Formats: sequence, structure tokens, C-alpha cells
Amino acid sequence: MMKIALGNDHGGFKIKAALLKLLRQRGIEVDDCGTFDTQSVDYSDYAREVCERVVDGRAGRGILLCTTGTGMAIAANRFSGVRAAVCDTPDRAARGRSHNDINVLVLAGAIISPEEAAAIAAAWLDTPFDGGERHARRLQKIERAGRLSEIALLGRADPEVHAAIVGHTVQEDTTINLIASENYVSRAVREAQGSVLTNKYSEGYPGKRWYSGCRFVDDVERLAIERAKALFGAEHVNVQPHCGSSANMAVYFAMLQPGDTIMAMSLDQGGHLTHGSPVNFSGRLFNIVSYKVSERDERLDYDAIEAQALACKPKLIVAGGSAYPRTLDFTRFRAIADRAGALLMVDMAHIAGLIAGGVHPSPVPLADFVTSTTHKTLRGPRSGLIICREKYAQAIDKTVFPGLQGGPLQHTTAAKAVCFREALQPDFRDYAAQIVANARRLAEALSGHGFRLVSGGTDTHLMLVNVGASGLTGKDAAAALDRAGIIGNKNAIPFDTKSPFVTSGVRLGTASATTRGMREPEMERIAGWIAEVLNHVSDEALQVRIRQEVAGFARAFAVP
Ligand SMILES: *Cc1c(COP(=O)(O)O)cnc(C)c1O
Repeated sequence: MMKIALGNDHGGFKIKAALLKLLRQRGIEVDDCGTFDTQSVDYSDYAREVCERVVDGRAGRGILLCTTGTGMAIAANRFSGVRAAVCDTPDRAARGRSHNDINVLVLAGAIISPEEAAAIAAAWLDTPFDGGERHARRLQKIERAGRLSEIALLGRADPEVHAAIVGHTVQEDTTINLIASENYVSRAVREAQGSVLTNKYSEGYPGKRWYSGCRFVDDVERLAIERAKALFGAEHVNVQPHCGSSANMAVYFAMLQPGDTIMAMSLDQGGHLTHGSPVNFSGRLFNIVSYKVSERDERLDYDAIEAQALACKPKLIVAGGSAYPRTLDFTRFRAIADRAGALLMVDMAHIAGLIAGGVHPSPVPLADFVTSTTHKTLRGPRSGLIICREKYAQAIDKTVFPGLQGGPLQHTTAAKAVCFREALQPDFRDYAAQIVANARRLAEALSGHGFRLVSGGTDTHLMLVNVGASGLTGKDAAAALDRAGIIGNKNAIPFDTKSPFVTSGVRLGTASATTRGMREPEMERIAGWIAEVLNHVSDEALQVRIRQEVAGFARAFAVP
């Protein structure tokens, strides 16, 4: 039986005994939040006690009593997830349950008798929510409006920024996001990220800070570290890097001197900017030797990588990338690093969620360093992390702070901790498996429509469509898809002959769509739209029509 939190002010005290009696008779456990006499108090304090319990799950439902009900109802409905209403008859209470799923009943001590209060509460307890499609849809709309109410005060303070955020919210709702490096975080992650922890300076590490007042951010950072260790089976974790790039920078700076040799997959083959691109610090400060995929099957050729490593004797080998759709063989990378006398760093930025969810092998037992973002398949806030062997812990921590960064972003650390907790739940494994299943189906369906995929398909969440083979450029293809409400990105394909601003590829990923609950049938539908758009890239009328269809389709899959 659910527990009920009950709160009242002095004006509601008069009908309280009748309600307690009713609840006791029903054998319902009551969390009585007070007040316990008729001395004047502030109703808002009691509304808060009760609603916090309902929102965080300590109580299943709540009852609030005051003089007229108005103040309590206003206060209660400020809590998202609370549906409070003042009821003055049993019929209103029953309809409020069945139609509106009232979870906080508000009663007016000055207007109804104790007997009436008990009868109203009994009707409210006895009536289930009818769960019908019409009522459920309306309630879901209320919850989704919550995403806008989170920023409602910003609307008054700064209408321009507010308008941009509202615009983006609507864009999320009405488009299909296939950007492989993006995801939609949970409301819990957003709340942590938007919290007061942004106010706190905490240079240093938990228990060893330069500033006072770090008790709670110490708790947050310790939680993030412990959860990340549990999630990935790590010896040591640093959760302070602001992003994936600074995580990579920290490993390079901790272990290498400028001019040392790093071997990594080049950007145009599927690597990342920080893997040695000449326009990035990595390419400017270190001697980069790039490895490629094989021209034959567009997959990594480990024998060739080994021969290259033995020839150039790198200090560090980097495995991982941003546009490589196939499973990485970390065992083989470890063996190559050992033979070449190199350290091994795995950059799992894209696949961290797949690794956490058990659908891609883990590099953690094999690599000296594992770096990651937390915002791609891992579905956390925009940030980074470093995992390393215990023997490198001090060198890494010292390099992150004070070597590269000042104060950590503890609101983001909190959001990372929430993300790791979510990823530790059993249903995250289902999520990760569904991402991969969706990517497979999308890849098969696109192949079925005649498109060539780099390496023939995917083992992960992402795929590279060789639109050059269909006579298009990546740039034109991505722009046409965008006009149709399908958001991906142009991307170089291995051995691309076009400039990086034009390219011959489009990169697509399924992590965001999977978060919205889209599955294999939706992937086929999306592939159909993609094929239609790409087969007629200059037909703008078609794009407008598909844009409308996509908006209706997308709205049916709620963004968290
Ligand atoms: C996304 C990505 C990064 C960098 O992430 P930022 O947070 O944008 O700095 C690093 N490495 C790889 C392989 C990536 O895909």
C-alpha cells in the first residue's frame, strides 16, 4: 500500500483528525508533516514538505489542508510532477482522479466539515486514474511543457536567450536527430547541470581544496568518481576534464614531451581533431604518425598498424575515433603497443555508452589510459573524463589541475554523477543494445535503398553513408536532409577526394532516436525518408512535405 504524506497549516488543523482516522482505518501509512496545533504557521512550508516527498518518491501521494485550499494548491503545483487540486465534493475528487490523476488532494478547513473531508478523501483514494489515451495525452503534454517551465523566469529576465532556447526545444520535438555524437539527457541530468553548484569554486580534489565551503561539492565529486569506477571497472578516474578534448590533452601532457611521437587514426579516416590534426594543438605540438583504414574493406588493418608502429616507435598509440563504425579490437591494440614499447590510450568518446551497456568490448582492462566524453552514447552532460591505471593517477590528476584547468565545473560533475547512476541501471543495457539494433536496421534499410555504407555497415551506433557514390556531396546531402527535418552531418569518408568542407559522406547515429523510444520499424521509416530526400536533393517541395511528416512523427516520441 502506498504511503501518503499529509501536511496542514493552522487553518486545516480542524479537519486533520478526520483524515487521519480515515487513513488509519484503511491501513494506509501516513507521513504526518505537521503542523500539530492551531498556532499560526506558513502554509508554504507544509506544502513543500509534502510535495518534496511526492516528487522524490518517499510518498506515493499527498494531502494538504489549509483554510481555503488556494495557497496550498498554488504552492503544490510549483513542483513539477505534482498535480494538486482543491476538491469540495466527493464527485470532484473522483473525477479529478480518473481524468487528471490528482496526486495531491487539497482540502479547505474553513469550507467543509470533517465528515465531508473524509468523504472527499475516500472518493479520491477509491478512484483510479482511467489511463485512457485522451487523458494520458493531456497529462503528457503537461509534463512536456515542464521543459519550458524550467526556463520560464528566463523569459522575463532575458527574452532573447529565452527565445533561442525555446526555439531549440521545439526543434528537438519536431525533428529527427541522427547526429552520432549527440543525445538527449534526462531531466535529472539537466536539473543537476542547472543547479546552484555552478556557484562554487573548488580547485583541487575532494578533501584537498583551496577554498572553504566544499563539503557538498566534495560529496558530488566523490560520487561521480565512485560511480564511474563501478561503471567501467576502473582503477582511477578523474572527472574534472571539461570536455573530451581536454581529457586527451591531459593524457598527452602528463606522459609526453612536445615533439614526441603519437600514432593515431587521422581525422579524414575517422579519427578526431585531437588525434593529431594539424589545425589542433595535438598536431602542432607532437610528431603525429597517422594510421588509416584498409582501402579494401575500409576497416582497420591491424597488421599494417603493427608494422607502422614497429617502424616509428611511438611513445603513445591512440585507438578510437569519431566516425569509425566498426568494433575496435583493443586486445590487438594492446599487443601492438607492447611490441612497439608504446603506451596505449583509448579514446572511447563515441562508444562509452555502448561499453557501459555491455554491447562493445571494454578497453579499460587493457589500456593505460581511457579518455571519454560523457555526452555522446553515455547520455550525460557535455563533459569529459579520464580513466587510468593507479600508477598514473598522480600524474593525470596533477596535469588536469593545476596543469591545465582551474576550478572544476561542479554542476557538471553532479550531472555526470547522475548520468553514471543512470548508466549503472539494468535498463541502460537494454538502451545500449537497442541503439546498436537500430543502427543495424537503419544501415540495412539504407543499403536496401541503394546507398553505399563505408565498410558495408556498422557494429556500433553510427554509420557513414558514402553519398559520393550516389553522385552527391556530403554538404548538399546534409543540407537537403536538414530541410526535411532530418539532422545529420556531412563527414569525410576514408580516402575522400573532396575538401573537408564539402566531403563525400554523411554520418548518422541512432543514440538520440533510441532515447526517444524509436525502434526498428521507425528506422525503416526514417531510411525511407532519407532515400526520398537524397534521391531528389533539389526538390524543395518534397523536402517541405517530408518536413511536415517528420514533425508529426517526431512529436509522437517524447524528448526527455
Ligand atoms: C567528440 C570527441 C572528442 C572530443 O569531445 P569534445 O567534448 O567535443 O571536446 C574526443 N575524441 C573523440 C574520438 C570524439 O569523438
